Amino acid sequence: MANKTPITVAYGDGIGPEIMRAVLRILDAAGAQIAPEVIEIGEKVYLKGVTAGIEESSWESLRRTKVFLKAPISTPQGGGYKSLNVTTRKSLGLYANVRPVQAYHPFVDTLHPRMDLVIVRENEEDLYAGIEHQQTDQVVQCLKIISRPGSEKIIRYAFEYARAYGRKKVTCFTKDNIMKMTDGLFRKVFDEVGQQYPDIEKEHWIIDIGSALLADEPERFGVIVTLNLYGDIISDIAAQIAGSVGMGGSANIGDQCAMFEAIHGSAPDISGKGIANPSGLLNGAISMLVHIGQADVAAKIHNAWLCTIESGVHTGDIYKEGVSKKRVGTEGFADAVIERL
Ligand code: NAD
Repeated sequence: MANKTPITVAYGDGIGPEIMRAVLRILDAAGAQIAPEVIEIGEKVYLKGVTAGIEESSWESLRRTKVFLKAPISTPQGGGYKSLNVTTRKSLGLYANVRPVQAYHPFVDTLHPRMDLVIVRENEEDLYAGIEHQQTDQVVQCLKIISRPGSEKIIRYAFEYARAYGRKKVTCFTKDNIMKMTDGLFRKVFDEVGQQYPDIEKEHWIIDIGSALLADEPERFGVIVTLNLYGDIISDIAAQIAGSVGMGGSANIGDQCAMFEAIHGSAPDISGKGIANPSGLLNGAISMLVHIGQADVAAKIHNAWLCTIESGVHTGDIYKEGVSKKRVGTEGFADAVIERL
């Protein structure tokens, strides 16, 4: 126990508990040296009347362990509740949301076999700052906040990431032709910071045509850095066209703390059926193991996961006649990964 790294774990809502159980089973079988502290967040906590969706004792665990493995949670829609995802990212200062998306051709069906990109999304500002006002009974307003320090931090992170992982190009997406001050500032900072990275190719696209190119020719991109809302949207599109939104993992990185999750949500439509793909959360957990210095275990799990995908053992979201060999549920998929460790 002494050498195990304490991590905070939340099982979340919807498919969250199913995929978290599968992922922790794989981590355990691979010999990950972790000591999970389980906290409750999301629907159950909202139902107790805690509108933040998280209790004070859970913050204490997060501030102490500084590492959070989180299953998706359902965010009640409409008034009265804050998004716990947004609160967590802001409260823990998780400024960088890193979402790698890769095609696994020919083992997973996709129109984009050479796709291999990383979306670096600003995680604390933009329209997600959660500042909304009722102006009159007919008009509501949401404030878009973009700061120079916030932009510099995420853009520098994207260039450093590109350098560290041998990526040749960083592309910036904004809508600076319309939002000249907010998106304009982000673009300006991108141009300034980019000058300090002469070894890396730089380009900028307006978000609408950039998204169209991403959907049509994703292989042209390496690292994409963008604002919070755009990054959230394009990463779901990217994951889906690579094969399934159920495959993508995500790291939320701050100076003190980090949170690892799947990019998808709690999928209430398939909750309780035991068919969800645990790969997104597993990929998040693999990044977590690298982050806490257990890169060897991370590599072992990643290889076993790749082997499982290559063997054609697939959950329903990526199962395709003629490509896949065996359709499995969440637990069956975890068993297949464990067999290949
Ligand atoms: P979703 O990502 O939960 O689901 C979209 C579609 O993808 C559904 O058809 C679902 O069945 C499928 N899908 C998602 N993950 C899958 C998996 N692992 N395996 C197989 N299929 C999968 O998006 P949604 O339906 O818009 O959102 C549901 C809830 O999740 C909402 O309350 C939303 O606020 C919340 N949400 C949470 C997070 C998070 O916790 N980080 C992120 C996004 C959405």
